Amino acid sequence: MHGLMMDSQLSISSILTHAENVHQHAEIVSRKPEGGIFRYTYADAGKRSRQAANMLATLGVKQQDRVATLAWNTHRHFELYFGVSGSGAVLHTVNPRLFPEQIIYILNHAEDEVLFLDIQFIPLIEAVKDKLPLLKHIVLMVDKDSMPESSLDLLCYEELIEAASSDYEWPSFDENLAATLCYTSGTTGNPKGVLYSHRSTVIHALASMTNDALGVSNQSIILPVVPMFHVNAWGVPYAATAAGATLVLPGAGMDGGSLYELIDGENVELLLGVPTVWLGLLQYCEKESLTMTSVQDVVVGGAAAPMSMIKAFQEKHDAFVIHAWGMTELSPLGTVNARNSYMASLSLEERYELQAKQGRPVYGIEIRIVDDNDNELAKDGKAFGRLQVSGPWVASSYYKHEDQSDWTGKWFDTGDVATIDEQGYMNIVDRAKDVIKSGGEWISSIDVENIAVGHENVAECAVIGIAHPKWDERPLLLVIVKEGASMTKEDMTGYLEDKIVKWWMPDDVLFVEELPHTATGKLLKRELRDTYQDYYSK
Ligand code: ADP
Repeated sequence: MHGLMMDSQLSISSILTHAENVHQHAEIVSRKPEGGIFRYTYADAGKRSRQAANMLATLGVKQQDRVATLAWNTHRHFELYFGVSGSGAVLHTVNPRLFPEQIIYILNHAEDEVLFLDIQFIPLIEAVKDKLPLLKHIVLMVDKDSMPESSLDLLCYEELIEAASSDYEWPSFDENLAATLCYTSGTTGNPKGVLYSHRSTVIHALASMTNDALGVSNQSIILPVVPMFHVNAWGVPYAATAAGATLVLPGAGMDGGSLYELIDGENVELLLGVPTVWLGLLQYCEKESLTMTSVQDVVVGGAAAPMSMIKAFQEKHDAFVIHAWGMTELSPLGTVNARNSYMASLSLEERYELQAKQGRPVYGIEIRIVDDNDNELAKDGKAFGRLQVSGPWVASSYYKHEDQSDWTGKWFDTGDVATIDEQGYMNIVDRAKDVIKSGGEWISSIDVENIAVGHENVAECAVIGIAHPKWDERPLLLVIVKEGASMTKEDMTGYLEDKIVKWWMPDDVLFVEELPHTATGKLLKRELRDTYQDYYSK
């Protein structure tokens, strides 16, 4: 016997319609790429998103066509989030930090015919336009007065919006239809596309709004620094809209100074982003002797949050770090380390220890760890193995890609190595390919990095495994020293000495000017391993 309930299909447009009906006065604030701050309400955003949907029809976009964006976090990008997916087309957000060859590959692979562009990315597309034979229209997202000279045949977003009617009824369709497309940055081989559906996006938004996840409500003032071109800014534009939260979009200003100005000016309470961005912000505040007084919670994900960062936010800015783990294939939320009653019973030091873990699965996500033969391992906080996940917002395959090797039955293999404890707290030990294998034992490069970055003179660091004639691999520590500070190898190893087991101690410490990052802000360890591959065999 079936239940007798309405079979309403979940849709992205319904999120915006809800905001227009219920949260019409709540605000969206956006730093425009051409300069200046723009602010409007969800009611205005709803109207302009419907104009965007009509504009897409005039550009010839049909249901399920892919529409690309190369854009920062702005109100115009927000309108496309709803205008494109809401009209039944597929929003393909392109990460501008990918290599030009990867951008060419994914635009062609997705068969994008229309591209929406922010002004900063014109040179990028001018350089590769000849290799994009499918592209029919390029729309520049600026005011009419800011249209620049370019070798590209550019349409003006504001002109098209102005000409489009706001009279538009969002179509209904099967909730399993594709809504957005995002390619993983892929440190090897071509990027792989993850194709989210309306259903997965809405369920993910509902789960991420809860207090056990990101805690997004009508009272939240949220600044997603995580880009809208990377896993849909962790789904925040959908969750914020459903909740009617004040959404503050930083445009191209990701540096410490620009972020501080926006946080302070808009009284931002909830921040979301990757550790490298927070390092920049914390260092800026330290240098300028500034405190963020409005911030209550900082969601840190995409890479491990070092304990020193968790402490700095708490002790200097009275802000609580919500450590979260996820990936493109998970929309991206997997586990979140939110406040709970258990945490409240701990001393501050114990709480910091716990906060350094990546948290517990959000309801909807199942996790487990397995050995090399896919046997499930104990959830005792000690055994570590390959982390596998399952749930309604986890990818079931890649877009137009044959390889199914990351899936076994109901499980997706994340490529991460982790422990899970009795209470369900997951701790990432390393990425499987970054773990350092020394004399038959494993060293977690992440653990050593997180401790080393706690030294007051260290701005950023990386630990990599280098081939070693005797031990198979040994760790090498690369350090960027903070501006104006200086340190020696002995300062570093002396600091690590009583904090890690003896055999985890890096054999050498190198001081460098910069470290390479992936398009999503993670350390590019493959490149470092290539550069230093002979370091211990010379
Ligand atoms: P890519 O950078 O390849 O696009 P994602 O952005 O999807 O990939 O990143 C997913 C990976 O990032 C995870 O598999 C994990 O290795 C790492 N990661 C994400 N969050 C955390 C975290 N809180 N701690 C440690 N690693 C993390």
